[in-house]
Amino acid sequence: MIVLKFGGSSVADSERLDKVVNIIKSHAANDQVTVVVSAFGNTTNLLTTALQSASIQDNKYLDSLESVFNKVDAISESLELSEATKKAITRYKEELSKMLEGVFLTREAGPRITDKILGTGELFSSLLLVEKLNSSGSKAIWKNSYNFIKVSDENGEKKVIQKPSYRLMQSLLQHHEVVVLPGFIASTENGVPTTLGRGGSDFSAALYSAGLEASKLFIYTDVSGIYTADPRVVKQARPVEQLSYREALELSHFGAKVLYAPSVQPAFEKKIPIYIKNTFEPDAQGTLIQDLSTDKNTTTVSGITHLKSISLITVEGAGMIGRFGFAKRFFEAIGNERINIILITQASSEYSLCVAVATEDAHRAKAVIDREFALEIETRRIQPGTVVSDLSIVALVGEQMKSHTGVSGKLFSSLGANNINIVAIAQGSSERNISFVIEQKNVKKALNTIHERFFERQRKQVNLFVAGVGTVGSRLLNILNNQKQHLLEKLSIDLRVVGISNSRTMSFIPGGHNLEDWKKPLESGKPASIETFISTLTDLNLRNSIFIDNTASDRVANTYYELLSQGIGVVTCNKIACSSDLDNYKTLQKESIRGQVPFFYETNVGAGLPIIDTLKNLIDSGDSVNSITAVLSGSLNFIFDTYNGTESFESIVRQAMTGGYTEPDPRIDLSGLDVKRKLLILARESGYPLEIEDIKTAPFLPEKAANSTSIDAFLDALKENESHFQSLFDNANSKGNKLKFVAELFKDENDQLIATVGLKAVSPDSDYYNLSGSDNILILYTDRYRSQPLVIKGAGAGADVTASGLFGDIIRASNQR
Ligand code: ADP
Ligand code: ASP
Ligand code: MG
Repeated sequence: MIVLKFGGSSVADSERLDKVVNIIKSHAANDQVTVVVSAFGNTTNLLTTALQSASIQDNKYLDSLESVFNKVDAISESLELSEATKKAITRYKEELSKMLEGVFLTREAGPRITDKILGTGELFSSLLLVEKLNSSGSKAIWKNSYNFIKVSDENGEKKVIQKPSYRLMQSLLQHHEVVVLPGFIASTENGVPTTLGRGGSDFSAALYSAGLEASKLFIYTDVSGIYTADPRVVKQARPVEQLSYREALELSHFGAKVLYAPSVQPAFEKKIPIYIKNTFEPDAQGTLIQDLSTDKNTTTVSGITHLKSISLITVEGAGMIGRFGFAKRFFEAIGNERINIILITQASSEYSLCVAVATEDAHRAKAVIDREFALEIETRRIQPGTVVSDLSIVALVGEQMKSHTGVSGKLFSSLGANNINIVAIAQGSSERNISFVIEQKNVKKALNTIHERFFERQRKQVNLFVAGVGTVGSRLLNILNNQKQHLLEKLSIDLRVVGISNSRTMSFIPGGHNLEDWKKPLESGKPASIETFISTLTDLNLRNSIFIDNTASDRVANTYYELLSQGIGVVTCNKIACSSDLDNYKTLQKESIRGQVPFFYETNVGAGLPIIDTLKNLIDSGDSVNSITAVLSGSLNFIFDTYNGTESFESIVRQAMTGGYTEPDPRIDLSGLDVKRKLLILARESGYPLEIEDIKTAPFLPEKAANSTSIDAFLDALKENESHFQSLFDNANSKGNKLKFVAELFKDENDQLIATVGLKAVSPDSDYYNLSGSDNILILYTDRYRSQPLVIKGAGAGADVTASGLFGDIIRASNQR
C-alpha cells in the first residue's frame, strides 16, 4: 500500500488533473493506492477571503464564492458526472452559500463555521478527482476524511488522536479500487467537522500513511523536491536528493512551505519513506526523506530556510542576574497566552533574555511580560520589554554540521562581508540547526550569499555598478563583455553589470545588462544623479556589489565612505579620494579594512601598470621605501615627447585630449596637479603621511594659462604663448636634452622628506631620456632594493590600459568577496 498526496497547485485545472490521473494510474499498476488531495489551487484562500468579507457584511464575499464555484463548474463540465456526485456537489455548493450568508447576516464567523466553510474546497476536489479517474478507465472510490481522522478539542486546542484514527482507517484496506480522500479536513470525537490548519493536507497524507502502514508516502507538488533554499528567493537553489527526518523537520519548521512540519511526524514514527515529487515532472528524482543514520548523509549543510514577519522581544536588567525562576515566569507568562516562541537567546551574563515571536503576536507578548514583571519594572530592577519588528529568521540545517567545525565561521564571515547585520543567534543543542535573526530587507541577499557559500562553491555572482562610461568606462564594458565567459569558466565569477550611469542618464537591470547592447537602455534610462545611483544600488541590496568610478568627479569620490561602510566594494580610477586630505584617505582605508570591503585604485597611478599593488606588497612584507623618482604623467610625456617646435604646443595638447591621454580637464595635467596627486598617493602608500601642500611644484605654464578659468581660455592662452614653449624646447634641445615632467620623493641630508614635481631637461644618460609616447617609469629604492632599484615601466595613460587596470582590480575585488 502506498499513499499519494496531491497539493493544490497539482489540481488547479482540468489539464493538471489529467497529469494527476496519469501519475495515479502508473502507481496503481504496481501497488494498492490511497490518494489524498488538496483543494483546487487557491480555493482555500478564496474561501478565507469570502469569510472575512462576509463577517464584515461586505457583499464582495459573493465574488470570491463565485470564483470558487467557477473553478468547480469548469472542471465538472469537462466530465460526465455520476448522479451521486452531481447531487453531492450541488449540496456542498448550497451549504457553502448558506453558511456564508449566515456569517454575512450575523457578522459572526466562529471556529466551527469557519472550519466547515474552509474544508469544503477539499470535498469538491476529491469528488471530482474520483470522477476523473473513473472516466479514464481507473476504478476509484471516494471516502470522506471526516470519518477517519479524529481530533480532540480541549478548549479550542485541537489534537489528532492517532490511535482511534488509525483504527478507523483499517476499513479502507478492504477496497481494491483507488481510494480518494479529501486532505485538510477531520472531525472531532463528537463528529463536528474541523480542519488540520493551513497546509494541512500534508498532515492528512502522513496520518493515512501511518494508519495504513504504507510502504511509501509520495507528496506530489509543483517543484521537484525540497530545495536547498526557497526557489522563489534563491534562483540557484536545487533539489536535495535525500534528507533525514530530523533535517526535514527542521527545514520545514522554519518555513520551507513545500512541506508542513508536523506532517513528517506520523510518517517519522513509523519510519515510512517520504518522496517529494513534481506532478509536472514526475520523472525528476525529487527528494527522499527517510530514517538516515548520520553517516549516510554526505553533505554538511542540507538546506537553508527562512521565516518572515518576526519580532524580537527583549527584557533586560540587572534584576535578572542570578535570579532563580525568572526564565520560568517569563516563559510561563508567554505560554499561558498561547503565544508560540520561535527562537530563544539568552546572553551568558543573564543580563538579557530575548525571544522571537510572530509579529502578529509581538505586542501581546510584550504586554504579558510587562504585566508579569510589573513589580520589577516599577522598582527598576528590569526595564520594560522592547519590541523590534520587520525581522526574519534564517536557519541553516544539516545533520552533519555537528561533526564539522567552521560552519558558523564560514556562515557569519560571508554575511559580514555583505554587511548583513545579525540581530540574534541561536544554535540548537542538536547542532543540526543554526538560526539567526536579520532584518527582513536583507533576507534575499542573505539567502543568496549563504547559498552561494555552501552550495555553489564553484560559482560566485558579482554585481557591478559602473559610473562613467566615457572613453575608459566604455572600454571597460567592452573588456567585461569579452571576458565574461572566460571569467565564468576559469575563475567561476559570474560578473553582472547591474547599474550603468553617465552624466545624463542611468539604467538598472537587476539580472545584468546585455553588454553587447548597453547603450540603448542607458539612453532611455532615468535622469542621472549620483545620489539616486547610490541609493538605488543600496536599495537593490545585491550580494557582492562593487561600485566602479570611471569619472573624475569629486561628488562621486565623496560617496566612497558611504559605500564601503555598507559593505559595497569600490574600484576607481578617479584619484580625487586618495589624494584628498589625509584624514579622508585614512578613513577610507580603515573602513575597507574594518569591513573587509574591497577598495582598489591601482589605476590612480600609471594606469594599468602594477605600481600600487607592488608598493603594497613591499610594505606588507616589511620593506620600506627610501626614494621614488618617476615620470608619472602619460599625458605630459606624450605632449613633451611629441612637441618639437614644428607643430604648435596647443595643437599637441588638443591631440592628447582627443586620444584620451589627458584628464577631461587638461589643466589638471598641465598644471602638474595630476602628477602631484599621484606622488601623494605613492607617498601615502609608502607610509609617509603627506598632504598635497607638502609637495612642491615648479610650474612651467605661462601665467595666463595657469590662471585661465575655462578649458577654452586655457587652450587660447597656450596658443598665444607658443614662443614660451618654443624656448623651453630650444633650451633643452640645444644641449641634447629632452623635457620630462619628473616626480621625486627622497630624504635630504638632514633626513627631511622632500617631495617635488616639475619639468626637467634630462640628458641622454638619464633613465627618463628614452621614455616615449605615453610611457611611465617608476624607480624605487627600498631597504631591499638598495643598490639596484626596482623599476616599473610601460604605457601609463590611455583608455585601453586604464580599462584593463580597472578590470584587474575588479577581479581582485571579486576574489576578496
Ligand atoms: P502544494 O500546493 O503542493 O501543497 P505548496 O505551495 O504548499 O504546494 O508548496 C510548494 C511551494 O513551496 C513551492 O512552489 C515553492 O515555491 C515553496 N517552497 C518554499 N521553500 C521551498 C524549498 N526549500 N523547497 C521547495 N519548495 C519550497
Ligand atoms: N487547502 C488547504 C490549504 O490551502 C490545505 C492544503 O492545501 O494543504 O491550506
Ligand atoms: Mg502545501
